[in-house]
Amino acid sequence: MNEKPDNSRRKFLRKLGAGVGAASVAGAGLLAGSNAIASSGEKVKVLTAEGKLVEVDKSALSDVKVATDEKREKARIGLPGRKFVMVVDLARCGNARKCIDACQEGHMLSKDHEWIKLYALQDSEHTAPYWMPRPCFHCDNPLCVSVCPVGATYKRDDGIVLVDTKRCIGCKFCMTGCPYSARQFHWGDPEVEVPEDHVYDPELNTPPVEGTVGKCVFCADRLRKNQLPRCVKACPMGALFFGDLVEDVVTNGAESLRFTQTMEARSGYRFMEQLGTHPSVYFLPPVDRMFDYQGAMDGLEDSIKERYKNVGPREAKK
Ligand code: SF4
Repeated sequence: MNEKPDNSRRKFLRKLGAGVGAASVAGAGLLAGSNAIASSGEKVKVLTAEGKLVEVDKSALSDVKVATDEKREKARIGLPGRKFVMVVDLARCGNARKCIDACQEGHMLSKDHEWIKLYALQDSEHTAPYWMPRPCFHCDNPLCVSVCPVGATYKRDDGIVLVDTKRCIGCKFCMTGCPYSARQFHWGDPEVEVPEDHVYDPELNTPPVEGTVGKCVFCADRLRKNQLPRCVKACPMGALFFGDLVEDVVTNGAESLRFTQTMEARSGYRFMEQLGTHPSVYFLPPVDRMFDYQGAMDGLEDSIKERYKNVGPREAKK
């Protein structure tokens, strides 16, 4: 089922302004306009989409397909007993950008739409520059969630922050609230073709819908199948590790690490921790680097080099 999210509702709410709440109706649907139904004589009360309580003949009711709503409800609950965490080893990132490609492919994103970004950083003029991949940090105190006026974005017990595109009204409050610029606005529908049988699921959050906000979802759909996120699997350097705080283990698919021990031994940290957001993404400092910064710049397409022209360390601007 290729379900197109309800843009008219989104536009209507946008007109009213961000302070307007939203109500959802699920369950039975009224067969409007049918004149061929024999009366059963049994009357039932139903709530209409306009919020009115009306009495109708029971034979006028039919079940609405709930496959999508089941997925959306399941996505709110998450995986019990888990607390997901990502560890990025900055010493290993050589800007191969395979994580970005895999994410874009898996989430039907266009090439200029990145849920995981690669920043060029240099801590001081005396230190060598390095690359820093930045997904959504799935904060334990997510400011994006606090400011959403319609409950479209939410935090699960397993640590993942998701967005329900069908509730998103495109007010962009979450983009303003996120101190890490981890969210992106969809200015248009996806350029890729959406399969006919595609069912919307916030854990995958595809297809992107015009007028809504998207971001990294930690590949919650793959975690449900006990698989690593797309970016982790795609990284040829093994720079991205993913795991569970409860088990105290993270892995890049080839190598597994004790989370606590690794953080202590290698002085792991979280980005801008002083903000009190408590990110679920940790970084290992770029000491004993495995890749040359400038070498990674050389391999980039011109359009991407252009993007780094005015950012990052001096070497990137040559
Ligand atoms: Fe929200 Fe930004 Fe934290 Fe992601 S990084 S959970 S978008 S505040």
